[in-house]
Amino acid sequence: MEHVLGLDCLVCGERYDPGAIDYVCPRHGEDGIVDVAYDYEAIGAAVGPDSLSGRGMWRYRPLLPVEAATVVPPILVGSTPMHSATRLAEAVGVGEVWVKDEGRQPTASLKDRASAMAVAKATEAGARIVTTSSTGNAAAALSGICASVGMANVIFVPASAPPAKVTQLLAYGSTVLLVDGVYDDAVALCMHAAAARGWYNRTTGYNPYMSEGKKTVSYEIAEDLGWEAPDAVFVSVGDGCIIGGVYKGFADLAALGWIDRMPRIYGVQAEGSNYLAEAWARGEDVLTKPPISASTVADSISAGLPRDRIKAIRAVEATEGAYVTVSDRQILAAIPSMARGSGVFGEPAGAAAYAGLVEAAALGLVGGGDRVVVINTGSGLKDVAAARTAAEAAGTQPILVEASVDALDRVLNQLTLPT
Ligand SMILES: *Cc1c(COP(=O)(O)O)cnc(C)c1O
Ligand SMILES: [Zn+2]
Repeated sequence: MEHVLGLDCLVCGERYDPGAIDYVCPRHGEDGIVDVAYDYEAIGAAVGPDSLSGRGMWRYRPLLPVEAATVVPPILVGSTPMHSATRLAEAVGVGEVWVKDEGRQPTASLKDRASAMAVAKATEAGARIVTTSSTGNAAAALSGICASVGMANVIFVPASAPPAKVTQLLAYGSTVLLVDGVYDDAVALCMHAAAARGWYNRTTGYNPYMSEGKKTVSYEIAEDLGWEAPDAVFVSVGDGCIIGGVYKGFADLAALGWIDRMPRIYGVQAEGSNYLAEAWARGEDVLTKPPISASTVADSISAGLPRDRIKAIRAVEATEGAYVTVSDRQILAAIPSMARGSGVFGEPAGAAAYAGLVEAAALGLVGGGDRVVVINTGSGLKDVAAARTAAEAAGTQPILVEASVDALDRVLNQLTLPT
């Protein structure tokens, strides 16, 4: 970690040596989220945009908080595609829309970026067991990355997690604890077990290195745009770790002078899980604002007390972005509209980012020539039930046909297809 200056507490500003604390500022307990501070001059002297090499997130290793000797997981994480979606741009009324498809990660969500970092840090720490609590995707990601290196792991997820995500954990061979409660209960149990048993804890908004892994999504976006920031980035928000990472990635590049301005960052929350949107709109202090009771079809962004709330508010405030909220109906409708307009099939929390763009355009927050990036954070195959409901609500039903050529002709003759 030659380029790391220290870990800065976002509550009191104290700077710690990375060896001095494991996760949070000891003065503030679980609220004491710390931020990794870098020596940008040293990084800039050692590396430039033209000297990066390799594929995936470790291509940016000089900008990441790992020791030079650390062996990182070999599975390819990152280098996900970003597609230009001209029909979405027309539909929404902005200059350009790009969809960054994180559904193309090894375990099919953006969480792989953080989990690869977690496994690298656990290896550095000499840990034998890694643990996390998760609404599902962080768990699947940790489980899959651990499987790639053969590291033992214990996973806490709410019993309500979508079956695909739980199935991933079982396939990868994790020890899976289905908590009879909500996500926040799973977090509490995981924190307890990790502390009591000395397991390496990946939990979001507690482990300071998770947003550092996630920030690599912004490096890829900027690099794909020829080292330019887009005008606006839309990302869905639950705990706030992804949006914090998105901000950190662009802020690193701006500090290095690899991009010359920051994008406006828009956080998209579900109406039923709007802690951060409410805090931002009302100017409330997220250190004292009490938890809300969260409920939304987009399970990945359901969080009553977002763990990474300080970084999440900073991302929007520092870039003159905004928080927008969307209803479950808008989220579900966005699954087929994004899929049909771009070819990218997102899970509810992924499509929520596109729903947020539609909402922001209606509010006049984006428009004209804006170049907009929508981050699809997870694959539509993560929650097939929600996608099926959404596609049928959009008027698309499968057509049952008898297995005969005559029956087929009758059916086809009734359809209006392009000639
Ligand atoms: C975790 C997740 C989010 C939200 O990320 P936070 O860091 O909790 O804000 C959004 N979409 C998907 C698919 C996720 O897995
Ligand atoms: Zn502190």
